[in-house]
Amino acid sequence: MSPKESSKQSASVAPAEPSPATPREPRYTPSEIEPKWSERWAAQPDLYGCEPASAGKKKYYVLEMLPYPSGQLHMGHVRNYAIGDALARYMWMQGYNVLHPMGWDAFGLPAENAALKNNTPPRQWTLQNIAAMKRQMNRIGLSYDWRNEVTTCLPDYYRWNQWFFIRMFERGLAYRKKSKVNWCPACCTVLANEQVINGYCWRHEDVLVEQRDLEQWFLRITNYAQELLDELNKLDGWPEKVRTMQRNWIGRSEGAEVEFAIAPAAPDEEQEKPKNAAELIKSALEPNHAGTRVLPPLENVQAAGKKVSVFTTRIDTIYGATSIQLAPEHPLVKEFAASNEKLAREVAALLDQQKKAREDGDVGEIEKHGVFTGHYAINSFNNERLPIWVANYILLDYGTGAIMSVPAHDERDYEFAKKYGLEVRIVILPRRTSEDTSREDEEPLLPYTAEDSLLINSGEFNTLGNQEAQHKMAAYAEEHSFGKATVTYRLKDWGISRQRYWGTPIPMLYCEKDGIVPVPDSQLPVLLPENVEITQEGGSPLGKIPEFVNATCPKCGGPARRETDTMDTFVDSSWYFYRYTSARYDKGPFDTAAVSYWFPIDQYIGGVEHAILHLIYSRFWTKVMRDMGLVKNSEPIERLFTQGMVIRNGAKMSKSKGNVVSPDDMIARYGADATRAYALFAAPPDRDLDWQEDGVAGVSRFLGRVFRFVTRHANRTAGVNNATPTSQALQRKLHQTIRKITEDFGGRWHFNTSIAAIMELVNALTAAEPQIAAGEVPDAVLAEILRNLVLLLAPFAPYLASELWEQIGGKGELLRAPWPKFDEALAKEDEIEIPVQINGKLCNVIRVPANADEDMLRDTALADEKVQARIAGREIVKAIIVPGKLINLVVK
Ligand SMILES: [Zn+2]
Ligand SMILES: [Zn+2]
Repeated sequence: MSPKESSKQSASVAPAEPSPATPREPRYTPSEIEPKWSERWAAQPDLYGCEPASAGKKKYYVLEMLPYPSGQLHMGHVRNYAIGDALARYMWMQGYNVLHPMGWDAFGLPAENAALKNNTPPRQWTLQNIAAMKRQMNRIGLSYDWRNEVTTCLPDYYRWNQWFFIRMFERGLAYRKKSKVNWCPACCTVLANEQVINGYCWRHEDVLVEQRDLEQWFLRITNYAQELLDELNKLDGWPEKVRTMQRNWIGRSEGAEVEFAIAPAAPDEEQEKPKNAAELIKSALEPNHAGTRVLPPLENVQAAGKKVSVFTTRIDTIYGATSIQLAPEHPLVKEFAASNEKLAREVAALLDQQKKAREDGDVGEIEKHGVFTGHYAINSFNNERLPIWVANYILLDYGTGAIMSVPAHDERDYEFAKKYGLEVRIVILPRRTSEDTSREDEEPLLPYTAEDSLLINSGEFNTLGNQEAQHKMAAYAEEHSFGKATVTYRLKDWGISRQRYWGTPIPMLYCEKDGIVPVPDSQLPVLLPENVEITQEGGSPLGKIPEFVNATCPKCGGPARRETDTMDTFVDSSWYFYRYTSARYDKGPFDTAAVSYWFPIDQYIGGVEHAILHLIYSRFWTKVMRDMGLVKNSEPIERLFTQGMVIRNGAKMSKSKGNVVSPDDMIARYGADATRAYALFAAPPDRDLDWQEDGVAGVSRFLGRVFRFVTRHANRTAGVNNATPTSQALQRKLHQTIRKITEDFGGRWHFNTSIAAIMELVNALTAAEPQIAAGEVPDAVLAEILRNLVLLLAPFAPYLASELWEQIGGKGELLRAPWPKFDEALAKEDEIEIPVQINGKLCNVIRVPANADEDMLRDTALADEKVQARIAGREIVKAIIVPGKLINLVVK
């Protein structure tokens, strides 16, 4: 069918095409095309199935993060999956054996909340939601291999969580210790951090949440801290920001641990107790002039009593320490406060401030407060007595929960010392003044913290460079048994106990005779009981089921109590992607042969909000499995991509903001192809996407134009056989488009520009309709163009592409059709010469592609040597650029 009206326009922005009202002109109706193909695809359960490892083909494992089955996909999901799906389809067309699975992160608190609210058992609620979301995914046309679906709340999956847990217990990687939990005294249960709102219970607005010590299970991730840090350097395929976030989370710092003896009494009491340790020290000392001192008999100090251990990264400044600062929860503080009610009250206030700051996530920004305990500690380097303070910005879980405060050389210490009038003593100076340390007027601006400095006022360590001093002073402390060089990490062991119902039961038993006994492998899985009443009050729901709690000890046959805590759901997501390779395997967590073929994951795609916990736990789990001999790879993920958020009206889409766009609505109105193609087109995938419904409509109109163009020319059989200028221009455009999209897939994934390139190609084709109608394009060329246009569209709009593939008589499954190859010779752009004038005078002539736009012309001109020489040092006040004609730069 050829167009009746022809346009005289040349290839410009808005080429005309035949009016849709033309008789028998087919209409693009996604509401018909898409369900038809959905049905056909559903009838081929193997369509997206991967081939077994034994097929020996080159593999590609592309994975999107598995969702929590809330019951409704949101646009963030659609965007995430559209990216993964485009890539999977592209890799299939490139001839790879592709694994593209999907599953459900199905345990977790929302199911319990829903159970309370709707009186539906968590399992039923979860499985209903999974079914609903799976329907949505299939409607969108996502190419998932459902034969390898993984649902983490089902026993065939979580039994392996239990199996792994027991293996870790055997290896000393799972252990129990007392730990702080959030406890609501009204609920009589532990709360997750997100259930603590400004310090109050989420269900009891007026009940303050307490911190309680509870026995909890931990996984020893800290054993792998250094390896987790080191191997970040090898993850070249990860975004730098994610690697940085993980580095900060692991938080390695090199430094020294130094013990300060606690002076046993306050100064005014000393005289009355001549035999105490402070006296011993005092008597052992000569008057303490800088540089000449006799060191104390340290054994005596240590033997005399308590010590406080501080971690410092700057032991070289220890002579400048003028106080010791403890975290409010430090055990020594408890002791001091036990006999001092005023102190106890003040410490409680400091702790409250710290907790609030922690909840708000900005301990670093906290307004610093502190209180003097009335006690002193002794600096073993110079035997000075340092007042011991408690400060709200010191955290118990970082380092040792105690610091030495060196106000002259630390920002925080300086701020604190100024506020409370503590001594500020300079002990390092910039190197340049080292020759003349007597010149007081050259003191650096405080606090002075530079790494490259020299020591002063530091006894025998004076004049050392600070790096050297750090080694020597740590060695000195070690030699005298009051300290040593150490490395600390911010990373803590992973607490996995949850006093919740909807999670994996921890497979442990407690026997009075045998203590902690793991459930034997033959008794796995420990099934999560059904029909449990969820009240979220009175402790763990499993603890209220006698049939669950009461068990038999496998060692002695006597009675045993079963662990009633369940596992953190991050356990489920730490290894789920291994299970995808052999999801029905029942002799182990996965088939190791399949895993060694498919791993590492070639491309993982998900939100940056998982940059830390999920991705660190996954890396840890892989290293443990490697050490168990289960996998060969040390890292699970080769390349990671974090997509941007979907926002609308300036905010992330969320129910509370009322700015949610439902994928179902969009699909009903514009079709799945338009919705997903828009999600790729509207912004580069790594950036935030500002949702505009007009944009979806625009993409839908574009797909309509493709549909009509291909349909019009699908069965054409009249035309010349020789190349004409029009056919050459169209071929050139086609091959440039193929090149562009192929490069986008291989590089930065700027699918927005890929789709824009297809739009340009379609513009060029529509603009050439009069010439095509006049037979100026050989059939073979037109057929090649149509075929390739459909192939290029396949990763982005698979429904429409499949429909058109059928129309043009494409052979076989579109998904397995080879991706088009570009011909560099055909893609080569004609070049033209453009004069560059400066202030109206010809400067040079540059060669540019015939279609170079203003930006390209400007860039090429400014990069030209002659032009650069002429404008050197002058300001360009104006650039007159006429594409295809000339460039005139006005400079002064
Ligand atoms: Zn409560
Ligand atoms: Zn026993």
